[in-house]
Amino acid sequence: MLTKLFLPLFLLSLSFSSCPPRQAVANETTNSTSQEALAPKRPKNIIFMVGDGMGIAQITAGLYSNDNHLELERCTTAGFHKSYSSNYLTTDSAAGATAFACGKKTYNGAIGVDTDKQPIPTILEEAEQHGLATGLVVTSTIAHATPAAFIAHVESRKQYEDIATFFPESGIDLFIGGGSKHFDERKDKRNIIQEMTNQGYVIKNQKEESIDEVDMDPHHPFGFFTGRKDPKTYRQGRRYLPNAAQRATAFLDKRSDKGFFMMIEGSQIDWGGHANDGKYIIEEMLDFDRAIGKVLDWAEKDGETLVVITADHETGGFAILPSSKMNKLKTKFVTDYHTPVLIPVFAFGPGAEQFSGIYENTDIYRKMVGAYGW
Ligand code: MG
Ligand code: ZN
Repeated sequence: MLTKLFLPLFLLSLSFSSCPPRQAVANETTNSTSQEALAPKRPKNIIFMVGDGMGIAQITAGLYSNDNHLELERCTTAGFHKSYSSNYLTTDSAAGATAFACGKKTYNGAIGVDTDKQPIPTILEEAEQHGLATGLVVTSTIAHATPAAFIAHVESRKQYEDIATFFPESGIDLFIGGGSKHFDERKDKRNIIQEMTNQGYVIKNQKEESIDEVDMDPHHPFGFFTGRKDPKTYRQGRRYLPNAAQRATAFLDKRSDKGFFMMIEGSQIDWGGHANDGKYIIEEMLDFDRAIGKVLDWAEKDGETLVVITADHETGGFAILPSSKMNKLKTKFVTDYHTPVLIPVFAFGPGAEQFSGIYENTDIYRKMVGAYGW
């Protein structure tokens, strides 16, 4: 009797304890679905895109010069960040990029260092430590302030040759941009391109091959120089950013199973602002927007990629005049330097909703790191 009664009970309890996952799934289906809906889905990859100097007026000018359409409109979330630096209401690109890369406000000119000039870890370095692939794609020199703040730690953005020395140390998987002279025409006679080649990098040059056709074998880390100094302007014939963005994304996706972090910069929207040249701004804005389109196409298909798009600051106090018409804009500037207005942030993909609201530029670092779950 006892055995008879006991045995089925024992088997019953055994069957429960030996199959907890299945039972848990069966019992909590409704619960876990609603919890999944509440818990934000984590991205595997983050593509962080910076339109240097791209304020609301620059975006608007691109939009109304392009038949009222931007790829940027595909983003599902928008917010604003406060761009000021530790020592000025108006930031420069070095302090602005350090805020994004390291999550700390610092002084204008600082590259990956705090107000005491001490190095602070960057999201790119942290991505490397977590086994992710990393990349930088820009239309300035690769040692320029914005990309530099993700990879280097120096007191001044003007230390281009010092910034270049951080590349072979970084473990970066891909970089595309100008400024090869900072690597192989140096005062100290080091040839950093040769050093990186010896490490296993494949480093190509636009003089020899186009970024559209160059072989990008994901078995080797890859570098591509688009100029000895600054790359050309769009007006002068520079066309690589959208394709470079697309190919870099596909490359990094194959470099690590764990995901990737990449920063892509439309560097010269800012330079159009400094030049008080509305057409220059619009050409560079639309080039950057085409790159955004390529990235969003990829992110849409992938489903595991968070895309965050913003600027470090506005440049020029750029304004669109009331006499403007669709595709025929009249513009004006109040300065040839940066301004401290709030800067829009756009996001797409898992974790995008975190980027709504108004917050500090340093919170963008925290939101990205939080999205990865670090
Ligand atoms: Mg820049
Ligand atoms: Zn600038």
